[in-house]
Parts: sequence; structure tokens; C-alpha cells
Amino acid sequence: MSLKGRNAIVTGSTSGIGLGIATALAKAGANVMINGLGSEAEIAAATKEVSAAGTRVVYDPANMLRHNQIAEMVERCERELGSVDILVNNAGIQHVSPVEEFPIEKWDAIIAINLTSAFHTTRAAVPGMKKRKWGRIINLCSAHSLVASPFKSAYVSAKHGLAGFTKTVALELATAGITVNAISPGFVKTPLVEKQVPDLAKSRGVPEAQAQKELLEPQPTGRFVEIEEIGALAAFLASDAAASITGSNYSIDGGWTAR
Ligand code: NAD
Repeated sequence: MSLKGRNAIVTGSTSGIGLGIATALAKAGANVMINGLGSEAEIAAATKEVSAAGTRVVYDPANMLRHNQIAEMVERCERELGSVDILVNNAGIQHVSPVEEFPIEKWDAIIAINLTSAFHTTRAAVPGMKKRKWGRIINLCSAHSLVASPFKSAYVSAKHGLAGFTKTVALELATAGITVNAISPGFVKTPLVEKQVPDLAKSRGVPEAQAQKELLEPQPTGRFVEIEEIGALAAFLASDAAASITGSNYSIDGGWTAR
């Protein structure tokens, strides 16, 4: 399952799942443009980790809140790496709060980063993919693209939206050699989830240890999904072997949505 000669962008790949996916794609042979926020040291560490596979790795600082920067990132990848064959829309943030107290700026940022940025990257990358008659778009959704949990109104709305966007674009590109799929993890231990524990503890009025146990309750396996498991699925969906898989939303959630 080689991705040799393919060029990929993974948004939000300075940390967590995105970093794991970027590493998995590089290990399969792809050159990768990584992206995301972070200190100089964090970005250098992420670049080093993905580079270990020996393929070309370039960092782009595009902020997923800025459509001009997103378009420039796609253009730069085409210019410097030669193409965007694989696009992984992974950048995401979370905020947990009852709806009536949900900060308006948090709602706007979650919709912009978790949903609208995927529209901007896709819009910019599709013309090149169409020209080359080959492309893979993978959207990081969530179990929350299929089911809801209280206090996550913006995140659940954005992820349901991204699942719908995935299906729509898959239909539009079905005969163009471009597949569009979603990956929907359950809980994965990354900084995004670690931050939720104190927030949940606060909104539920319970100690943090209890909040962590409650967080994992929907996941029948009772354990966090591993980042490497998501990387392996992304590398498969990016491969030629997955050419007939499009418009799908792959749950990787320890049985969460089987209930
Ligand atoms: P994380 O916090 O570890 O990483 C998020 C990444 O997005 C970072 O690289 C960060 O710099 C980047 N990012 C945030 N705001 C950005 C912006 N404005 N511009 C550019 N980059 C930005 O989170 P994670 O857990 O690895 O989450 C990655 C994706 O997986 C998200 O879309 C998230 O919703 C999804 N997801 C996570 C889980 C989980 O349990 N961790 C479960 C389901 C889905």
C-alpha cells in the first residue's frame, strides 16, 4: 500500500491525530505539508517526527480561520511539492458549555475551523486533482458527526455539517478519480480531549477523575482509540486500493455508535 510519489496536506498536524496521520502518510511514502499552530519548538518537533520516514516535509503556518491563508497554503503545496494529491482536513478545536452560556466567539471559531476550513481547502485543491484525475480527500469527523452529547452544540453541529459536506463533494467528484471520505473517531487521548476533562468537571460539578470516567462511558471498549489506528485507516483510504470507497463515514470509535 504505497503512497510513493503522492503529495499530501494535513491540516492541524502539529499535534495529536493530525500529526499521527501525517506520520502514517509519510511512512507510506508520501511527501507531506504539515500545518497547525504551536511554538517554534513544537513545530520543529512535529517536522522532525514526520521527516523521520525520509520523505519531503514542509510546514505551512496557514490559520484555518483565514480563507486567504488556506488558498495560499494549497497553492504553495502545488508549487513546492508539485501537487496536492491527498488532502486531510483535520484541524479542529472544542469547547464544552451549556448552550445558553456558550460564548459566541467560541461557536464562530468552532464552525470556522472544524467545518468551513474544509470547504476552503477542498475548493482550492479540487481543480488540480481534477486535472490529474486523481485525488483523496479525508475529513476528520467524529462520533459526534453521527450522534450528539450535551454541552457540545457547536462541535456536534460542525461535525454533522462536515459529514454532510463529505457526502455532497463525494457525489460531485464520483467520476473524477477523486474520493471523499470521513473518519469518525471516538475518544482519542490528545490535547483536544485532555482539555475537555477540566471543562466537563466544571460544567457537571464533579471531580476531574470522575469526569474522565464519564467521558469514556460512551465507548464500549472502555479505552481510548490509538492515534496510530487512525493513521493506518487514513493511509488506506489514501491508497489506490480504496479507489471505490467514496462518500463513506468510517467509525473508529470502540463501538460507541453501535449502541
Ligand atoms: P489537537 O488539539 O491535538 O490538534 C488540533 C490541531 O489543529 C493542532 O495541530 C492545532 O494546532 C490545529 N489547529 C487548531 N486551530 C487551528 C487554526 N486556527 N489553524 C490551523 N490549525 C489549527 O486535537 P486532536 O484531538 O488531534 O483533533 C484532531 C481532529 O480530530 C479534530 O478535527 C477533532 O475534532 C477530531 N477528533 C478528535 C477526537 C479526540 O478524541 N481527540 C475524537 C474525534 C474527532
